[in-house]
Amino acid sequence: MSFSRKRILVSGGAGFLGSHLCTRLVEDGHDVLSVDNYFTGRKENVAHLLANPRFEAMRHDVTFPLFVEVDEIYNLACPASPIHYQFDPVQTTKTSVVGAINMLGLAKRVKAKIFQASTSEVYGDPEVHPQSEEYRGNVNPLGPRACYDEGKRAAETLFFDYHRQHGVRIKIARIFNTYGPRMHPEDGRVVSNFIMQALTGQPITLYGTGSQTRAFCYVDDLVEGFIRLMATGDDVTGPVNLGNPHEISVRELAERVIKLTGSKSEIVFAPLPQDDPTQRCPDIGLARRILGWEPLVPLEDGLKQAIQYFENVVRTRS
Ligand code: NAD
Ligand code: UDP
Repeated sequence: MSFSRKRILVSGGAGFLGSHLCTRLVEDGHDVLSVDNYFTGRKENVAHLLANPRFEAMRHDVTFPLFVEVDEIYNLACPASPIHYQFDPVQTTKTSVVGAINMLGLAKRVKAKIFQASTSEVYGDPEVHPQSEEYRGNVNPLGPRACYDEGKRAAETLFFDYHRQHGVRIKIARIFNTYGPRMHPEDGRVVSNFIMQALTGQPITLYGTGSQTRAFCYVDDLVEGFIRLMATGDDVTGPVNLGNPHEISVRELAERVIKLTGSKSEIVFAPLPQDDPTQRCPDIGLARRILGWEPLVPLEDGLKQAIQYFENVVRTRS
């Protein structure tokens, strides 16, 4: 197959997932433009790319229009951790909805293919388990998670309407909990929280009883899924679940982190946040079928990579 170099825009390019995606796309030989307002992203996440002439970083808020010439767009801009997206919920919804309109408008104008980083949160607190793409979800539209969940649902609607109404080529991925190096150490997500707590000797905070489940995907596996989905033919729109179907309880995750770090931290219990899903696990049958994709990195290996990253964070701070 012959290689064609593309001009690719990654919104949210300085964030956790965005920085890994930019790295992979540059390594694959493409010209990459990261667009980020640095709300939760950090310049240091893309510092290793700045000297590469194929990479460019632009400060820009996707709630404002953008005029650039590109062939593909990955729309990742949006705070992803509950404490960050609940910090300014109105801005979160604006980023999802107005950001989607601006990125879709750009895709329409320059005839670019566009990928949307949607989320398992569109399933809310699911009554169907594991979750497949047909399930329409159980989201509380009024709760503290709604700014994110409903924002992402509205973005999916916009993607489909731009596709039907204007023929825009769309690819929607529903991403399940993903972890790895370059997660924000203070983003409050469970993997970063537990590892940071374990490494600094703080108590490990289990919300609720810790019996709620999640399934954790290592970032490299996820990025591979992104690339494969973007490369599909125009008839493939998604949504496609991308995540690791290995489901564990949050308590079990805490125990794994304690074991792998050799930490002496004790486990303490804190109240379960409102609308916290009791179970979540992707059905990835569709991704397996149409992308030939499945996660390859076992939780233990991925956690070791993440621990190494956070050890460095702790070391440079002390
Ligand atoms: P992140 O917070 O590290 O990255 C989001 C990036 O978007 C940050 O760099 C942030 O500064 C930027 N951003 C936020 N608002 C913006 C705006 N208005 N204009 C421009 N940039 C803006 O989070 P992440 O984990 O890398 O998530 C990336 C995307 O993937 C998000 O859209 C998120 O909803 C989605 N997602 C992530 C996960 C996960 O487990 N990591 C799961 C489901 C969905
Ligand atoms: N959680 C926890 N302790 C923490 C952070 C999170 O027990 O310090 C729980 C949280 O209540 C949820 C799960 O871990 O049940 C995953 O939380 P996260 O914020 O990472 O992502 P979510 O899947 O809820 O969006």
